[in-house]
Amino acid sequence: MNNVRLTIAQYIEGIVAADRVVLAKAITLVESTRPEDKTLASALMDKILPYTGNAIRIGITGVPGVGKSTFIEAFGKHITKQNLKIAVLTIDPSSQLTRGSILGDKTRMEELSRNPLAFIRPTASGNVLGGVAGKTREAMLLCEAAGYNVIVIETVGVGQSEVAVRNMVDFFLLLMLAGAGDELQGIKKGIMEMADAVVITKADGDNVKHATQARAEYQQALHLLPSKNSGWTPPVLTCSATSNTGIEETWKMIRSYKDKTTVSGYFEHNRQQQNTVWFGEYFQQLLQTDYLRFAGNKELQDELTQLVSEHKLSPHRAAQRLLEAYHRAIQEQILKKE
Ligand code: GDP
Repeated sequence: MNNVRLTIAQYIEGIVAADRVVLAKAITLVESTRPEDKTLASALMDKILPYTGNAIRIGITGVPGVGKSTFIEAFGKHITKQNLKIAVLTIDPSSQLTRGSILGDKTRMEELSRNPLAFIRPTASGNVLGGVAGKTREAMLLCEAAGYNVIVIETVGVGQSEVAVRNMVDFFLLLMLAGAGDELQGIKKGIMEMADAVVITKADGDNVKHATQARAEYQQALHLLPSKNSGWTPPVLTCSATSNTGIEETWKMIRSYKDKTTVSGYFEHNRQQQNTVWFGEYFQQLLQTDYLRFAGNKELQDELTQLVSEHKLSPHRAAQRLLEAYHRAIQEQILKKE
């Protein structure tokens, strides 16, 4: 089955019937960079649109070692116990560059990965700009069409992908450690500002006291940030994934966010805003791909880069010349077709 190409109808039928093999193949298809796959993937995304939008989309971030995979495993178990389906998409920005992985090579979320109500998939493909965001978003929509009620997108809280993820989820959860010395643990203030809630992990054993203290500190820090358009005040919770405390509360809090923002209209407003951002991003990506198709432009680009670096041409003028060359290339192509 692996090498057999499916038709659009087979993809749709399989996805809507929640066939995990077909879902996995569909995600591979949208991640593919081959032109013929891109055409098929676009058609597929168009067709599945009516089946999407029904899940709650949650972004989860935190530095390596904070306990993300352990948390998601416990969280996933809680979700599936209620007979709800959860899909976990993990983004590891490091794997593309170094072929190594911040998320680690050990099998993560082992128990959850065997649960028939859970689907776990790493999506470390493409470059960050458009690439990861675009593919992850499509993978998310495919999972929604396959009937997953909760979608978790996990990122390592050190890169640029957090902004992209923030722009595709309904709720953004930041996991933090207590008493780790450095107050913000290298988590950039910007990420803190994006959070809809902070959860202090590993609140068990001797660490309970530190976690409770950290909770008060982060609550205070969050109060100092500007209030959110959603009208929601980000709470700080503590949890222990290993002793299964605070997991249910986290889920309840997310449900409460959904209920409140649905009533206020923000939930839908946010998704509409995200759609417009995606539209802009896709368009830029298409433009860039189209531009890169003209090999001649690459030489000209190198030439202009050289001139700009030697102060022989202004960057502004160079950009204009490149655009003019691009326009000429398009016109030539049109003339060739006629
Ligand atoms: P990730 O890198 O953020 O995905 O973190 P992991 O989930 O792999 O956890 C990192 C380490 O913290 C592992 O050794 C876990 O066993 C440990 N850990 C995770 N959650 C908890 C917890 O709730 N309590 C305690 N005591 N340790 C935990």
